[in-house]
Amino acid sequence: MTRQRRAELADNLARVRERIEQAARTAGRDPDEITLVVVTKTYPAADLDLLADLGVQHVGENRHPEAADKHAQVAGVHPLVWHFVGGLQTNKAAAVARYADVVESVDRLALVTALSTAALRAGRELDCLVQVDLELEQREVRSGCRPDEVPAMAEAVAEAEGLRLGGLMALAPLGAEPRPAFERLAHVAAHLRTEHPDAGVLSAGMSGDLEAGVEVGATHVRIGRAVLGERGRSR
Ligand SMILES: *Cc1c(COP(=O)(O)O)cnc(C)c1O
Repeated sequence: MTRQRRAELADNLARVRERIEQAARTAGRDPDEITLVVVTKTYPAADLDLLADLGVQHVGENRHPEAADKHAQVAGVHPLVWHFVGGLQTNKAAAVARYADVVESVDRLALVTALSTAALRAGRELDCLVQVDLELEQREVRSGCRPDEVPAMAEAVAEAEGLRLGGLMALAPLGAEPRPAFERLAHVAAHLRTEHPDAGVLSAGMSGDLEAGVEVGATHVRIGRAVLGERGRSR
């Protein structure tokens, strides 16, 4: 079983890396500028073992405590960089700050405060990305800041002790073309870098739209299904 799963993951990884290379070439970019974050949510720690063995260095999780459980099982064995990519409740910030290296979903001031306090208490420096909401319509529940809220949120992160402002993260809008949305994101990112030249991370692109992310300058793509398989299917 393990050998079969390993072969499957190796195959999928090769295909995803090929897509990244191809997209980078098409965009006239160096593929080495693009970091692959494999989003392992819902998949077991055994898969993270195999992925680390296959050269994956960055993993993403979207839920606490699932992420904490896997971190506890794997972190002592493999030196992975852990990205927290999901919506984060303020009351879970302290726990997440103990194991996450990067929190990609910072979208409100209460979370900045909670992460800062927790990072200081844990004696850690957390890289934070401000999540940008690219949906055009107003919705009741947002994840991410509106583009016009990004400068203030970025400033808050930059000023918070224990936190480092890495850059921006976004998901393409549901059911809409990713490219125009990612172009808006790239614009927000360019503006951010005029104020914060070191905040060069742009996390954009998933299994279905990594090419669009790479085209607008993504430095990080977050890939789940294309590496691990469709979630919720028997394997
Ligand atoms: C699940 C998830 C991904 C990966 O999505 P796939 O479509 O499986 O590649 C990327 N980013 C976030 C925030 C996610 O929750």
